[in-house]
Amino acid sequence: MTTTVGVIGLGNMGGGMAATLARHDFPVFGFDLSQAARDKAAAAGVTPVSSLAELLDTIDIVILSLPKAEHVEQLCLGKEGTQEENQDTTRLLTLGKPGLIVIDTTTSTPETSRKVAAALATRGIDFIDAPVSGGPKGAASGSMSMVIGAEEEVLARAMPVLEAMSGSRVHVGGCGAGNVAKIANNMLAACHLISTAEAVSMAARAGVSPEKLLEGVNAGSGRSGASQVMFPNWVINKAYDSGFTMGLMRKDVGLASDLAAALGLELPLANAVAQLWDESRASLDDSEDFCAIVQRTDSTLFGHGA
Ligand code: NAD
Repeated sequence: MTTTVGVIGLGNMGGGMAATLARHDFPVFGFDLSQAARDKAAAAGVTPVSSLAELLDTIDIVILSLPKAEHVEQLCLGKEGTQEENQDTTRLLTLGKPGLIVIDTTTSTPETSRKVAAALATRGIDFIDAPVSGGPKGAASGSMSMVIGAEEEVLARAMPVLEAMSGSRVHVGGCGAGNVAKIANNMLAACHLISTAEAVSMAARAGVSPEKLLEGVNAGSGRSGASQVMFPNWVINKAYDSGFTMGLMRKDVGLASDLAAALGLELPLANAVAQLWDESRASLDDSEDFCAIVQRTDSTLFGHGA
């Protein structure tokens, strides 16, 4: 039997995921608040729909790619404090059919995943948190990686869709564990971007070009996603067009700080890095590329005017 898939949130990541699944011959329906996003998805073989009700009427699996945890909670459970009957035609909890699987690829919080999963379970709807890495290119090519929080049995049922949309999948635990792993991953990425900027800047002042330094680092033990992917693709060429915004990375840095605080952990390095991302609000708008944070380390070397 053909699995019909819905994608909610057709932005930088969700748009690429929907196009990838359509290329794999899944019937794909897409919903986004933005007409422009729906039009773009339609051009990639996705059937756009204009309401959540219309989408959930037809599909077996729904993928969420929304900005933040609060968007996931609101879409699934509705607005807190609103009369329940007003929401029955607008939220996934009441519109989704028993047997539906929700795959949430949003970088969200473990608490939100567990809260939403528990509520959906009362209606026979399963929930997987499967946040992703690999950027818009990885989503559009089906090569992104996933860290997954799910029950084995639900994961097995969702696997053909997950395999079509990603190059690697690590099942890290039960519901919520995917977001724990993703928050830890992005905490590292936020640190590596700044520490690599400091290393590149120091070496440049000492007479080693950024290109040569990165070649050396990437053959050595200092390498990371920042030195191997971010600097070559988006920093050194000053393109700053990764498709991941400063606003979303600040959100992820905040999620890491909140998780550490909730666990009563003192993480001095992560704290210092979080402070740098927070202070960068003064000069870098939420809409800028997240890699632009390196300009705060060395505006001459990494700035557009250099
Ligand atoms: P985006 O802003 O490009 O896309 C989000 C989309 O969701 C927008 O098109 C918006 O209109 C839509 N949307 C918001 N609320 C909605 C609702 N209630 N119903 C329907 N559509 C709604 O964001 P993105 O860059 O695609 O990121 C999506 C998620 O993936 C975020 O959690 C982000 O942190 C994570 N992520 C992004 C990247 C990246 O490189 N961009 C990489 C890994 C993870």
